[in-house]
Amino acid sequence: MKKKRWYDYLWIYTPVYLVLGMFNILFAWLGMIEFLIPLGIALFGGGKLFCNQYCGRGQLFDLLGNRLKLSRKKTPPRFLSSPWFRYGFLAFFMTMFILMIITTVHVFSGAQDLKQAVTILWTFKLPWQFAYHGTLLSPGVAQFAFGMYSIMLTSSILGFVTMVLFRPRTWCVYCPMGTMTQGICSLKEGK
Ligand code: SF4
Repeated sequence: MKKKRWYDYLWIYTPVYLVLGMFNILFAWLGMIEFLIPLGIALFGGGKLFCNQYCGRGQLFDLLGNRLKLSRKKTPPRFLSSPWFRYGFLAFFMTMFILMIITTVHVFSGAQDLKQAVTILWTFKLPWQFAYHGTLLSPGVAQFAFGMYSIMLTSSILGFVTMVLFRPRTWCVYCPMGTMTQGICSLKEGK
């Protein structure tokens, strides 16, 4: 049996992250790790190392789908892996991310009040004030955390549903971070 390495346990990160965000939303800032590290690795020559080795989310879906047999292991629909869908989903994801930053800036400037809610699937607002206990900093810091947690929860739900319906790592087929790092690698290789 293959010897386990420390990074084989990174799947713990996603459930711990989601649980921490139910106790104090400010922990949601930790989600930036999952944004900055893969981009940094891809930009500085590591290629897809993050996806292949260090992505806890990918490991988690693998574990749930294969080890716990929660996946039907069906072939995902072809459109999910098509460039138009992957890049379209990335563009949509980035647009929503930018809108989240704009809301955060408005709260920082005082033009808008803090909304203590988590939005799932960019549509459904869940009251989340139980996880906000104030901050010594600007309420904008908390607004960013609510937005970041919404993104992480939404992507976890999408990943979980497609893990159950199709193959365990179906999320990886259209994951915006995977598409971005793939795009960076292609650009660097001049493809
Ligand atoms: S495609 Fe996304 S979820 Fe899959 S391993 Fe890469 S970063 Fe992780």
